[in-house]
Amino acid sequence: MFLDNIIAAISTPLGEGGIGIVRLSGKDAVDIVGKIFRSPKQRALDDVESHKLIHGYIQDPSTRKKVDEVLVTVMRSPHSYTREDVVEINCHSGMVTLRTVLELVLKGGAKLAAPGEFTKRAFINGRIDLSQAEAVLDLIRSKTDESRRIAMEQLQGGLSEKIGTLRDKLKDICADVEAYIDFPEEDIETASRDEIAKSIEKIAGELKKLLKTYDEAKFFREGLATAIVGRPNIGKSSLLNALLQTDRAIVTPFPGTTRDVIEEYLNINGLPLRIMDTAGIRDVQNVAEEEGVKRSLLSIENADLIIAVFDGSEPLTEEDFEVIRKIKGKRSIIAVNKSDLPAASDKSVIVSSFSPTGVHVLNISALSGSGLEELKDQIFTSSLNDWKEEREGVLVTNLRHKIAIENAETSLVRALSSFEENSPIEIIALELRDSLDRLGEIVGAVTTEDILNSIFKNFCIGK
Ligand code: GDP
Repeated sequence: MFLDNIIAAISTPLGEGGIGIVRLSGKDAVDIVGKIFRSPKQRALDDVESHKLIHGYIQDPSTRKKVDEVLVTVMRSPHSYTREDVVEINCHSGMVTLRTVLELVLKGGAKLAAPGEFTKRAFINGRIDLSQAEAVLDLIRSKTDESRRIAMEQLQGGLSEKIGTLRDKLKDICADVEAYIDFPEEDIETASRDEIAKSIEKIAGELKKLLKTYDEAKFFREGLATAIVGRPNIGKSSLLNALLQTDRAIVTPFPGTTRDVIEEYLNINGLPLRIMDTAGIRDVQNVAEEEGVKRSLLSIENADLIIAVFDGSEPLTEEDFEVIRKIKGKRSIIAVNKSDLPAASDKSVIVSSFSPTGVHVLNISALSGSGLEELKDQIFTSSLNDWKEEREGVLVTNLRHKIAIENAETSLVRALSSFEENSPIEIIALELRDSLDRLGEIVGAVTTEDILNSIFKNFCIGK
C-alpha cells in the first residue's frame, strides 16, 4: 500500500554542523524538489539516476534567490528507506537554512512528517516488519557497542525470523486441528491427539526459552538502573566520578518539569548502567544530611542493581546499618571504600549482615582507583548470570515483545489443558489461533492503530 501524500522533515539534529538533511518521501517527492532545485548544468531532477548525488542550489521560486548550495539524492521506489520515492537534500546545517528549505518543500505540497513516519511507511510498505522498525529506534538510542549489536541483529530480522518460524509451525498445527472441525464425524484418534499436543508443547517450550532471555537482554536496551547508596561522605560521588572518567557511555539530558534531570550512563564491559539520581549523589553535601540519606534510600526501590558504599576507615554507624537493612534481598554489591586509609570498619560485620545471601563485598578506593576493575567485573557478572549462554541466540529486549510472547505461551498452555480435559476441538482451535495472533503482534502481522501509534510516537521527527 503506497500512501498518496508526501512527507518531509529535517532528518538530522537541529544545530550548526557540516551537513543537515531535509528528507522527503512520497510519489511526487521528486517533482516538489525539482521545482526548487537548480543545477548549474541544467540537469532536471527527473532525469537523474537513482542513488547518485547531484550538485546544485535550492532557490526560492517566489524571489528566485538562492537559499543554499546543496547535494541532492533521489532514491527511487522501491529501493529506498520507505520503498517510496525518497529525496534527500544535503544542506549546510544551520537552523535558518534547514528551516527555510523545509518551508519551501512544505509550500510545494509536502506535509510535515509525524515522529517516526518515515519508518512507519517502511513498515506499512512491507520493507521491514514491526520488530525491525522498533530496532531502528533501539539502534539510534543504543548506549554501548553491545546494545548496538543486539539492536542491529533485531533490525536484520533475527527476532522476526524466529517468530516467523514459530508462527509457521503453529499455523500447521492450527490446520491439523481445524481439519477435525470441518469433518466432525472423524473423531481425533488418540495417536494424532498426542502428536498435536507434543508439537504444541514444543512451541511452548521455545517461547519459554525466548522469555528467559528478556531478564538480562533488556538491560542492554534500557540500561541497568543502578543506585549508588550510602550515608554522606563515604565517597559515592568520588566513586561515580572515578567510573565516569574511564567508562562514561553517554549523557542524555531530559528536560524535566521542575529541574533538568541528567541521565548518566556507564559502559561496563558493554553493559549500559543508568546511574539513578545522579543529582542526589552529587548534591548530597548541599542538602541536610538526613535528606541526603532519604533520597539515596529512595532510589533503592527502583534499582535493578544497588552499589552500597561504606567507609572502611570509620566504624559502621546506625545509618550504615539502615542501608544494610534496606538493601537486603535486593541485587547488591557492597563496596567498602577508602581502602587506602587504615581500616576501621570490620568488614566481617558487613559480610555477616548479609550472609547467607552471598552478597559480594569488595574493598575499593575511589581515590586511588584500587579495586575498581574488580568492582566492574562484579557489576557485570552479578547482573548477567546467564549472559554467556544467551548472547549468541535470539534475544527479547523489548517489553512489548515479552508481553506478546507471554500471552502466546499462556494460550498454548490453555490449549494443552483443553486437550487433557477433552474439551471440544473448537475451543482448542481458538486458543491456538489466539496464540498465533499474539505472536503476530510482534512482527506487525496483527496490529492496531493504537499499537502503531504507541511505537512510532517515541521516534524523532525525520526518522
Ligand atoms: P559522598 O558524600 O558519599 O558522595 O562522598 P564524596 O565522594 O563527596 O567523598 C567524601 C570525602 O571522602 C571527600 O573528601 C573525598 O575526597 C573523600 N574520599 C572519597 N573516596 C575516598 C577514598 O577512596 N579514599 C580517601 N582517602 N578519601 C576518599
